[in-house]
Amino acid sequence: MLRRLASIHAMEWVHRVHHAERDAYEEAVRAGGLPGFRITERDGQGRLQPAGRRDEYFPIHYLAPLEQNKAAMGFDLTSDPLRRAALEQARDSGELTASAPVFLVQDTTRKPSILIFAPLYSGPAEDLAQRRATLRGFTVGVYHLNDIFRDAMHKSRLDLDNVSLRIREVAALQRDELLFTHLPEAWDQSPAGLEYRHSLNVAGRYWIFSARSTPAYLAAQQTSISWFVLLAGLIISAVLAAYLAHLLNRQAIIRRQVRDRTHELAASESRNRAVVDTAVNPLITMDERGTVRSFNPAAERAFGYQADEVIGRNVNMLMPEPYHSAHDGYLSRYLASGEAHIIGIGREVVARRQDGSLFPMDLAVGESRVDGEVLFVGMIVDITLRKQAEQALRDAKEQAECANRMKSEFVNMMSHELRTPLTVILGYLPLLKHAEKMPPAEMIVGMAADIQASGDHLLHLINDLLDLSKIEAGKLDLRPETLVLAEVANEVLDRLRLKAQEHGTALANETDALSVRADPLRLRQILINLVGNAIKFTQGGDITVKARALEGQIEISVADTGIGIPEADLPEIFDKFRQVDSSSTRKAGGTGLGLAITKSLVELHGGTITVDSRPGEGSIFTFTLPHPEE
Ligand code: ADP
Repeated sequence: MLRRLASIHAMEWVHRVHHAERDAYEEAVRAGGLPGFRITERDGQGRLQPAGRRDEYFPIHYLAPLEQNKAAMGFDLTSDPLRRAALEQARDSGELTASAPVFLVQDTTRKPSILIFAPLYSGPAEDLAQRRATLRGFTVGVYHLNDIFRDAMHKSRLDLDNVSLRIREVAALQRDELLFTHLPEAWDQSPAGLEYRHSLNVAGRYWIFSARSTPAYLAAQQTSISWFVLLAGLIISAVLAAYLAHLLNRQAIIRRQVRDRTHELAASESRNRAVVDTAVNPLITMDERGTVRSFNPAAERAFGYQADEVIGRNVNMLMPEPYHSAHDGYLSRYLASGEAHIIGIGREVVARRQDGSLFPMDLAVGESRVDGEVLFVGMIVDITLRKQAEQALRDAKEQAECANRMKSEFVNMMSHELRTPLTVILGYLPLLKHAEKMPPAEMIVGMAADIQASGDHLLHLINDLLDLSKIEAGKLDLRPETLVLAEVANEVLDRLRLKAQEHGTALANETDALSVRADPLRLRQILINLVGNAIKFTQGGDITVKARALEGQIEISVADTGIGIPEADLPEIFDKFRQVDSSSTRKAGGTGLGLAITKSLVELHGGTITVDSRPGEGSIFTFTLPHPEE
């Protein structure tokens, strides 16, 4: 600034120092890099010496540019009456105040300067007492009047050979002081010229500018009075400009600082906002009454509300009952008693979305005080997925336990199933061991039949087990052929007819002349299982095998009029090792594998199997197989 404005000779900071602090102050400045620093004043001969004792001092503490002004450092401005007068006026008025023209301590050219004081207060400065108490010091601008006026005249670029300029300061109690004089070289005091006067208040002082032209000026310039007035006005404006520049510069600095601060604030605000806006988790701030103050985009996504639908309303709109009603008292109770349920702790609660649906969340509430106002910050983690995962884990564990239990049950049952026919076989063997004590022939024939039946049963069980393990290992290969369904069905029914007769049950084949594409061995196995079950669970009823052609598929059903299956058991009837737990089932025997194997075989063919049953009325098992043309 000083480089740009040549007419400002120096800028200073003048520090207020109480006498009690004088030694410490001087020592501190010396330690700060100015060895030999002292608070000084001038003696009668104008030489600098340490300042005499006063209540307070106003030494020059900072000076720019330092080089040519060094001698003034430490000079106590109150030691000089002219400076002291301006300084006290500035202190008491709080306004910019210019000194009378003075000769600078450091200047040997004896050109007059003025000092303009701007007071700085460290506290309120409303009245005189406050201003005197809180004054910290002054910023001081030092102006060489000659330089200012010369500069201004030079900048006007006008020919001043025929114009004189005089600037006086008018002081109330002293005589007028001449601040500046410009006289053209050949100046006569001829009254024939024109004179122009202008007065100006400069920082509390009164200056009069007067410009006078020679008659020659008028003749030479052929100009009019108004031109002269303009010229004089220009000069005066230039002087004014130099002074105003000082003021404006201060304003510009303040404006720039305000702009920079505002910018920094805005930047930090937008940085904070960016963090909040991009936070993955919902963030909600609210005041001590629970009124929502901010609602970030993640919260909008989680709750289905737009921020402006929530901000300004009570946060309990995001909670279902009973929290909804309980919440109001909660924050105020916390503030009153410090009794916290969530604040600073965090816990699991249930939240309500806009559409009324509920979701579990982890809520952590932090408390912060901004400008004496309490703000609660709620951070929310939607734990729906975590809860689902926990549930899935629990389900899986339960399933595993269930499977395990069923496997043990199966092993028990299997051992029982295997042991029963073996007991029959082994029970007969001792009777046949001794040739001399053979039972009668008809008894032996009966035993042979029993042993055969038990052996068949064992074989059946073992085949089921082998099939099942093959299916589970994915090693069961099909050899599909085109089969006439009625033939396979007849074969199966013929095999089971004897058994059905034992139950007083009639078997009917209504499959007509339909063909299917299936592995004959496996289709037979499917039908044996279904019809076999139907016989087992039907006393004195009817069992009918039917078929019909659907689009691309043949649908085959086995219907009985037996005991039926309770509805609750239907969904699990095709599971492995699953038997409806009733005395009739136990009586009927079985492994719980038949339907599981049947279902797998149907599915291996690309079909599906379903069951429809009513207890006491009977059951229909329906499965599909591919049409031979497909
Ligand atoms: P199991 O070899 O023990 O019969 P299945 O898998 O073939 O095993 O059948 C499972 C259970 O389904 C049977 O124990 C029985 O309770 C029930 N069930 C199967 N078919 C019928 C049916 N036609 N009528 C009544 N209950 C049936």
